[in-house]
Amino acid sequence: MAHDDYAEIRQLAAKVAREVYGPLAEEMDRNRTPVSREQRMQLGELGFLGIAHPEEYGGSGAPLGQALAVVEEFGKVCRPAAFQIFEANTGPAQVIHHLGSEEQKQRWLPAIISGEKTMAVGISEPDAGSAATDMRTTGKLTDGIVVVNGTKRWISNGGEADQYVVYCRLSDAPGAKGIGAVLVEKGTPGFSFGASERLMGFRGIPSSDLYFDNVEVPEENVVVPAGGFSKLFGVFSIERMGNTTMSLAIGQAALDKTLKYVEEREQFGKPLIEFQSIQVMVADMVLLVEAARLLRDEAAASADAAGMPDPLKVSLAKCTANEMAKRVTDLAMQIHGGNGYTEEYGLERLHRDAHGWAIAGGTPTMQRIRIVSEMLGRKFDQRR
Ligand SMILES: Cc1cc2nc3c(=O)[nH]c(=O)nc-3n(C[C@H](O)[C@H](O)[C@H](O)COP(=O)(O)OP(=O)(O)OC[C@H]3O[C@@H](n4cnc5c(N)ncnc54)[C@H](O)[C@@H]3O)c2cc1C
Repeated sequence: MAHDDYAEIRQLAAKVAREVYGPLAEEMDRNRTPVSREQRMQLGELGFLGIAHPEEYGGSGAPLGQALAVVEEFGKVCRPAAFQIFEANTGPAQVIHHLGSEEQKQRWLPAIISGEKTMAVGISEPDAGSAATDMRTTGKLTDGIVVVNGTKRWISNGGEADQYVVYCRLSDAPGAKGIGAVLVEKGTPGFSFGASERLMGFRGIPSSDLYFDNVEVPEENVVVPAGGFSKLFGVFSIERMGNTTMSLAIGQAALDKTLKYVEEREQFGKPLIEFQSIQVMVADMVLLVEAARLLRDEAAASADAAGMPDPLKVSLAKCTANEMAKRVTDLAMQIHGGNGYTEEYGLERLHRDAHGWAIAGGTPTMQRIRIVSEMLGRKFDQRR
């Protein structure tokens, strides 16, 4: 298989994931327990939260691919822990890194990189999912204060995160033109959370609504003013690379478990792998995982000097990896028979999580629309 540029850090990440989080993963899923602040700070001490952030704020200044290698190793073993690494390296902190002012970077990035604080992103709303630009949350600026009103839905780390990069209407301009982003701190008067969602997967990664009722934040917290939606979505490509990697990790973990199982489990007096139809299923799993890996690697390698990957390659990778993870975990469950249907083998958990990653960050259908749009160099207005 392909040469690994990040073998050293990958090995360290795999060791920590296996030894520290391996024994906790099942329980975190069963009881929906998030990673604690102490655990997150330990990830920070190991340098895992700032890999793709500049050194002047405490990061490593390494390529995105290195952060993805660490996300992948944790993602195979324990998604709640992997989520923290994903969020810090590829999530909203990248919006601060790429689009924030120097003062904002100094103010917010070091605490994210050390693990002291964690950040979530609020884009989706009850009536604005795939149609993100239909969002209605507003931020009205008067006398140096932004007053935020509205509701955000499906926010991963909602209630748990200390800081929220909230996409909202910062001007009256219609559609995408009025949208920008403002950072809101947990604890600000008028900012509250809905009940924790009981999701099919993503357990141990809290999710809730965000409610903003005349929430006042200083103008200095505006990260991107109105009109910057395309810039925000440019940086969102980095988040999609993290999402792609989570799906890749899930598929790889299901494949690894299956490769072991088919040689151990015997029926009709011989190991499962001796049956040709099992060989074909396993070969399909390998094909799907390897195709997703190549597309993910190609997208990561496409990053320009500013660290921004090519959006077409990102959509190709995300769509492929999301669908691969659902299919490969399904095949793995089938090959494991009754054992695949138990919690003990961890395959149903991988399958449940695979579905979540395929919805988060824009569905495969929306990625397909983007792929055609990028290929043909034209926009397809979904409203007409
Ligand atoms: C586990 C999880 C974590 C998430 N984390 C976050 C988060 O941290 N922050 C955040 O802001 N959001 C988050 N989301 C929200 C996520 O981004 C949205 O759920 C997603 O964009 C889809 O929006 P929707 O659920 O409203 O579905 P809808 O937009 O209502 O779509 C429903 C179905 O219709 C299809 N569809 C929609 N429009 C079209 C079209 N034009 N053509 C063809 N088909 C179409 C979709 O592909 C989908 O299959 C998360 C979601 C999940 C499930």
